[in-house]
Amino acid sequence: MSNTKQTKRLTPGSRETLLTILETLPDAFFVVDDAETIMYANASAQAITGAPPEECLGNRFWHYAPQLVSPSLYQAMRRTRQTKEPNEVEYWSPMTRNWLHAQLTPTVGGLTLQFHQMRAPAPRQETFPQCERLCINDLDGLHTRIGILTPEGIVLDINAVPLDDAQVRREEVIGKPLAETPWWSFAPASQERLRAAIARASRGETVRFEALVRPREGMLLSFESVITPHLDANHHVEYLVIAGIDITARKRAERDIHALIDAIPQLVWTGRPDGYVDSYNQRWRDYTGLSTEEAQGEGWMQCTHPQDRQRVLETWQRAVQNGEPYETEQRLRHGATGEYRWFLMQATPYTDAQGTILKYVGTCTDIHDKKRAEAELRSLVDAIPQFVWIMRPDGSAEYANPRWCDYTDMTSQQYQGDGWLQAIHPDDRQRVLAGWQSAVQAGRPYEAEQRLRNGTTGDYRWFLARGAPFKDAQGTILKYFGTTTDIDEQKQAEQRIKASEENWRVLAETVPQMVWTTRPNGQHEYINQRWCDYMGVTVEHMQSDRWAPLSFIHPDDREGTRALWQHALETGDMYEHEERFRNSQTGAYRWFLARAMPVRNDTGQIVKWFGTITDIDDQKRTEEALRQSQERASVLMNSSIIGINIIEGEQIVDANDTFLRMTGYTHEDLREGRMNWLHMTPPDYLARTQQAHQELATQQSTTYEKEYVCKDGSRLPVLVCGVVFQHHPRQAIAFVLDNSARKELEQRKDDFISVASHELRNPLAALKMQIQLVQKRLERQSHHEAATALTRVEGPVKQLERLIEELLDVSKIQAGRLEYVRETVDLDAMLHEVAETMQQLSTTHAIVVHGAAPRSLVGDKDRLGQVFTNLISNAIKYSPGAETVEMDLSTSEETVTVRVCDHGLGIPREQRDKIFERFYRASGPRQKAIPGLGMGLYIVAEIVKRHEGTITVDSTVGKGSTFTVTLPKKRDA
Ligand code: ADP
Repeated sequence: MSNTKQTKRLTPGSRETLLTILETLPDAFFVVDDAETIMYANASAQAITGAPPEECLGNRFWHYAPQLVSPSLYQAMRRTRQTKEPNEVEYWSPMTRNWLHAQLTPTVGGLTLQFHQMRAPAPRQETFPQCERLCINDLDGLHTRIGILTPEGIVLDINAVPLDDAQVRREEVIGKPLAETPWWSFAPASQERLRAAIARASRGETVRFEALVRPREGMLLSFESVITPHLDANHHVEYLVIAGIDITARKRAERDIHALIDAIPQLVWTGRPDGYVDSYNQRWRDYTGLSTEEAQGEGWMQCTHPQDRQRVLETWQRAVQNGEPYETEQRLRHGATGEYRWFLMQATPYTDAQGTILKYVGTCTDIHDKKRAEAELRSLVDAIPQFVWIMRPDGSAEYANPRWCDYTDMTSQQYQGDGWLQAIHPDDRQRVLAGWQSAVQAGRPYEAEQRLRNGTTGDYRWFLARGAPFKDAQGTILKYFGTTTDIDEQKQAEQRIKASEENWRVLAETVPQMVWTTRPNGQHEYINQRWCDYMGVTVEHMQSDRWAPLSFIHPDDREGTRALWQHALETGDMYEHEERFRNSQTGAYRWFLARAMPVRNDTGQIVKWFGTITDIDDQKRTEEALRQSQERASVLMNSSIIGINIIEGEQIVDANDTFLRMTGYTHEDLREGRMNWLHMTPPDYLARTQQAHQELATQQSTTYEKEYVCKDGSRLPVLVCGVVFQHHPRQAIAFVLDNSARKELEQRKDDFISVASHELRNPLAALKMQIQLVQKRLERQSHHEAATALTRVEGPVKQLERLIEELLDVSKIQAGRLEYVRETVDLDAMLHEVAETMQQLSTTHAIVVHGAAPRSLVGDKDRLGQVFTNLISNAIKYSPGAETVEMDLSTSEETVTVRVCDHGLGIPREQRDKIFERFYRASGPRQKAIPGLGMGLYIVAEIVKRHEGTITVDSTVGKGSTFTVTLPKKRDA
């Protein structure tokens, strides 16, 4: 029967008839096009599917009639379409739970399907081999989820497990695209993944993929799914079998592991047994900036340094092939900075109980800094100015740095083994080897000084070799690591120090001081002999106790010494203290200056104290004397009676308060240099003052009277004593006494004398006249006896008259009013006249004149006569027992000299200058007994001075005196 031909013959009119027939058919009848879209379904079909025909028209057959779907039917439909031949199939419908017999007839652009329910399958030949007849229910016992899909992904069959998961009936999913079933439809991502996998599988590829499915609300499972295409004889994909394994537990465990791995602060990765790297932890991804997808498989090569790629890959592949642990060092690029850092890559295979490798777990440890440090260390070792070496305990050399090679001019082959010994001085070799062996035996560090030969110059220099043993856990020495340092200069310096130490000792023993050294704690080490002798102790005694010297110190100084020395030891401050030490021989204490300084090493640590003790006793005494004299000087300076000033040049550079008070100047005037003695001296005292200053140049000290012009212009009479400083001759000190009181007194005395002499002269003149008148009257009356008696009054009256004349002269001299007559004086005649007059008056002495002065001179004859009258009168008066007074006249070209010589009492030396002073009388008892007023020589000297002559005295006490008057011969009129 050919349905196709029948259909083609239908007329439009008969179409209704046909439809009626179809509607009344007891079997379900479908017409589908090539796309398996339902074009027609009769009432029975509707009864089976349970849906009205208008709903099923235009829908896909598989979707609309899940009760009828079966892979057998699907296969039959494919075959009918391919062969264009009618076909039939019988199969068990799990949904309708009965056997169905389906007849398939091709049509133009489609086919018809007619289903007939059966009680049991007809016993006949299978449509397709048993093996291909899928009876999925056989798999229901498995936990595997299995489904059969069209190449488009429509569910043809499915086993019970997934239906239970989703709690759906089979007919709810059969005929629907698997992607739209509850398991997959919940998430577009899962759907997409499934669709992609189905698409690949429908092209003939077995597709394996993992995905999340959600069979029902609240149930989320991880599936590892495999879609296997089933090919027909023509190698076309007939249908697909999808099998899903629940890997939720594994995934969770993996997630946990990955969370754990992610938390590890190292870079971690995992690889499959075949070497496919399949996961990286967060750290790894953060570091490389690559995602797991990008780095999967051999994707990690991207972040591996190009120079390392080949080597690392080969190592990895070798490890995987041999199932061995993997370890290598490689550079990994930092995703953000692009920098490469060194990592140690390690991976360990993770096996099951049978030893089958399940996984590789790998770590990447950042060893960049270590690598760099190693590199730096290497360059450091190469750069350090020392020799660095590694030796084996047997004394064979393993390594020596380039410095060693350069110095010794040895190659690494040459120094290896015991070759290094050749560089050591032959004299040192034995000792060095012995030292080495004993260090190794005792497991101690090795240290030796040795001379090493400079391979280029052949010279030897001293070196210090030091090595430390490197031991394993059991304490066995594996190697010695060591350095060798050039100590040649140090050695030489030591030699020099040794020599200088000897020099130092000689020095310390010869200096005129006490010298000692102590340890940093103050313990004495060395004390020179001088110090031991002074204290009367031995060095050993001093070394026994660091406070030993205290017992030799004056009790009053001990505490201070102890405290200061303690302080110095604690702080390292320099020690300096004056203290008294007892001399062991005399028992007396003398002052010493003790000083100590710390001697430090290169690191600033005190290694010893070095001290000296200097005798300053004399100095102290001098200081004390000086202090006392300074005190006295300052007392003097502060004297309120004596004014003191210090002059330098014309300037008064210092003055005490008394002097300032006297003169009215202030300290400020003094500081500002406003005190100038020249300006402070009135013109009439200038000559005397300058003279006094000149005198100072020769005699260091002079006393004179003067006046100062005070600041307010008033004048102050003073008595000045000037003294020149011995050590500072440009400076002089002047002691100034206020002389005003005395001067005032003198003035009053002068005034009195002046008045008295005048007052006495007039009555005396009247008296004299009266006597003469009485005398004459007596003569006339011939009372000769009375007249003669009266003549005796003449002498005393004359004496009185002379006295008053002298007083008047003195007062005139004082007032500067003594007048002189200028006349030519015949000196010879005048002197003889004087001598004669005096001879007449003297009854006791003979006045003898020697020589002559035959020249005249200009002067006041009376006054000159007064000079010699006075001198002869004194000569007679002060030579009571003598008989002669000599006058000696002599001349020279320029001068006339008159000497008046007596043989009397003489004048003591110290009084000789003073006798020319006003009212001065020599103080001897015999002189005192002789009447006089001390005016004569004063007037004499004044008169001689006014005649530009000089008067001097030469005398021997008890033998007599000679007064010498020298006068210039001619004086201009
Ligand atoms: P006077 O009136 O005391 O003689 P003068 O001025 O003449 O005063 O003499 C002063 C002092 O000098 C006398 O007091 C006397 O001590 C001493 N003098 C003067 N001439 C002589 C002399 N020729 N021999 C000893 N002493 C003399």
